[in-house]
Amino acid sequence: MKEKIRQEAAKLFDWLVEIRRDIHAHPEIGLQEVRTSARVADELRRLGLEVKTGIGMTGVTGLLKGGSPGRTIAIRADMDALPIEEQTGLPFASQNKGVMHACGHDGHVSVALGTARVLSGMRERLRGNVKFIMQPAEENYGGARDLVEEGVLENPAVDAIIALHIEVDESAGKLVIKPGPIGAAADVFMVSINGKGGHGSEPQACIDPIHIAAHVITAMQTMIPRSFDARDPLVVSVCSIQGGSAFNVIPDCVHFGGTVRTLSRERRAAIPKKLEDIVRGITSTFGATFDFSYIHGAPITANEPGMTDLMKGVAAELWGPDSVVEMDKPHMGSEDYSYYLEKVPGAMGLLGARKDREIEYPSHHPRYDFDERCLPFGVELLASTAVKFLNGEL
Ligand SMILES: [Zn+2]
Ligand SMILES: [Zn+2]
Repeated sequence: MKEKIRQEAAKLFDWLVEIRRDIHAHPEIGLQEVRTSARVADELRRLGLEVKTGIGMTGVTGLLKGGSPGRTIAIRADMDALPIEEQTGLPFASQNKGVMHACGHDGHVSVALGTARVLSGMRERLRGNVKFIMQPAEENYGGARDLVEEGVLENPAVDAIIALHIEVDESAGKLVIKPGPIGAAADVFMVSINGKGGHGSEPQACIDPIHIAAHVITAMQTMIPRSFDARDPLVVSVCSIQGGSAFNVIPDCVHFGGTVRTLSRERRAAIPKKLEDIVRGITSTFGATFDFSYIHGAPITANEPGMTDLMKGVAAELWGPDSVVEMDKPHMGSEDYSYYLEKVPGAMGLLGARKDREIEYPSHHPRYDFDERCLPFGVELLASTAVKFLNGEL
């Protein structure tokens, strides 16, 4: 089936580009992907899939049942855009002011629909099912969490999941991947320090929360790295602080908050207590009180080794062994694909899509763009991996 998939994917090139450009020109922010999900649902219905809409607000699933029963593999694509004013000058640039597909999710939609088209053309030869999970709100909300809660991994039960993310650091025809963690868990903490305000000239009559906050933040930045094994990566960043409104008034309270990124469950579990201990110890020394809250965001994105090997093997078989690039290190950003990986084994690979131009703009940049020649490569890889998972061979 390898050759058949390759030919079909190549034939779809113009259609893949049309979809990508249509989605690109009409970007929608997470949970508002109304037009996008309508087009996605239409295309999946036209291919004869069982389609469900309105999952987690704007999510869509499409179930492709093979000719004989078997396992179920899911293919996930995210559909949302970013609040960025596009500056690419492309003929198909965003028509929605202040909104842009700057993370390649327009490409992810195109590749997933292309995969559905190729596999629906050979459904009789498939042993099992392929479930397409077209997900909202990866960037702003963690849409995957709601989809998992609403049961996208059930009925039929999903045995494994695969996904690609477009990657402009590598050229088309390359797969970047590694087993284990590829992205960090992203948690949020918020702190209020409650002191006693007063005249700026009389600190002795006050409990100055600005002074205390300065100590707490300094202690966080020094004690956290000195309390844990440096070989297990960890980032704690205080990213916002509010307090005071005049040069001669000590305020009653200061609020600050930030983000924690970790790559292991053990480290992730240990951080909230450590942060709270630091806040408690320092505020009590100065006679202030505090409020502390900690919110767990997306988990660690960890590729299951077996599924990683499967994707690698398929890429090497399709495009040659040099096409597989071992990802050197995980990044400390997060990806809500991790919610699926907590429930079922799966992997995410990065699909090379570097444009042939002097300056490559990174994702989330107003001039971001990618090489559309990656689209049929993505279709070939996802379709072939699904076939190999279900049928045992390509
Ligand atoms: Zn992004
Ligand atoms: Zn993304």
